[in-house]
Amino acid sequence: MQYKAYTIANFRNLPQASSLSEEQLRDIEIVGSVFPFRVNNYVADRLIDWSRVPEDPMFIATFPQKEMLVPKDYRAMAQLFQTGADRDAIHNAANQIRLRLNPHPAGQQEYNTPIFEGKHLNGVQHKYRQTILLFPQHGQNCHAFCTFCFRWPQFTGLEELKIASSANHDISAYIAKHPEITDVLITGGDPLIMKTRMLEKYIEPLLSPELSNIRAIRIGTRTLTYWPYRFLTDDDSGELLKLFQRIRKSGKHLAFMAQFNHPVELETDEVREAIAKIQDAGAIIRTQSPLLRHINADPHIWAEMWQKQVSLNCIPYYMFIARNTGAQHYFSVPLVEAWQIYKQAYQSVSGLCRTVRGPSMSCLPGKIQVTGVHDVCGEKVIGLQMLQGRNPDWVRRPFFAEYDGNATWYTDLKPAFGEKGFFFTEELEQILDPGEFETGFE
Ligand SMILES: *Cc1c(COP(=O)(O)O)cnc(C)c1O
Repeated sequence: MQYKAYTIANFRNLPQASSLSEEQLRDIEIVGSVFPFRVNNYVADRLIDWSRVPEDPMFIATFPQKEMLVPKDYRAMAQLFQTGADRDAIHNAANQIRLRLNPHPAGQQEYNTPIFEGKHLNGVQHKYRQTILLFPQHGQNCHAFCTFCFRWPQFTGLEELKIASSANHDISAYIAKHPEITDVLITGGDPLIMKTRMLEKYIEPLLSPELSNIRAIRIGTRTLTYWPYRFLTDDDSGELLKLFQRIRKSGKHLAFMAQFNHPVELETDEVREAIAKIQDAGAIIRTQSPLLRHINADPHIWAEMWQKQVSLNCIPYYMFIARNTGAQHYFSVPLVEAWQIYKQAYQSVSGLCRTVRGPSMSCLPGKIQVTGVHDVCGEKVIGLQMLQGRNPDWVRRPFFAEYDGNATWYTDLKPAFGEKGFFFTEELEQILDPGEFETGFE
């Protein structure tokens, strides 16, 4: 299929746009001037059920929604459009809103960028001991944009907010110097937006015998959902599958980290053929998704999704909580409700689906899982544990927060039992700002 992209500049040309009212089109324009917007013909023709718009989950997942801006910001932007403000004025107002929406959650830029021979390794993140993230410069785009994307600043004009690396020797040298690194996760954007030729420049060095510490190469991608032709009919789809085979022949695990947010995404013939091709090339497809209001906040949807994935030989991996960035207020589900949805879905599927862990928050200290609601000596509390930690010793240590049915992020939570902090609070501050605490140890 010929790829056709639609953005804020030309979305009115999308054949299905004629089914939207002028008010809906204008709202897309207004909100799409703040949040990135891009959709393609496969999403529009095969995934969105236009008879169910505006409630259709795939429509909400790809088209900017009025409520994604808080009323004050919506009114300010709408006013600019109504009064015919020029592009610069709209752009500046949009940037002001963006900067208030926590564009780099969890301190990624400040705290996760490693230093190698005195220089910041841009486009690399090393937060958890075994795994580094690689953000190829040419992979900072996607076949379509998710409205809820926590990497949304990668696709705005805000250059200073972008994370990107070139394929370079320093990355290999850093990995060689850190034998504890076993996994490289190539992410974005979507690295599979790159031509195979370009992707090879990042992957080939990782296969060299000097980097024998690397056991797994992971590719984080949404291409299966948004453009399965990448594996079927695109010019270099055959070379891409051959690259996958080469990774396997080098003796490394190839983890294809796919994101599926709704069962609809698993139902087209194209996605099923693509899944089979990727698996034939030797990759293991693991699946993850955030839990999203208006899209998948229902245990039946999750159970169906995991079951379909297992039928397709995919392995459910993570259920995430919507991160505290962008339009979190629109998509988020309270932590307690998220745990209930997870539990109910988990209880209704067989053990083969129960490889999935969650609901999990990717936040400053680590990946924090909500494990339940408990009554401990008369106090109602929320149970938590880390699945990943900035300090690996924190992982799997149970801890507790005061019950709060409205909390949507760990920063909303207070330690239970009258404690001043969580068990990791002080150590986290030391890790993030060692200078400030030096004297305390003398
Ligand atoms: C989630 C994540 C990883 C990978 O964690 P796994 O539990 O090994 O899948 C690595 N780095 C960062 C920054 C992450 O958020």
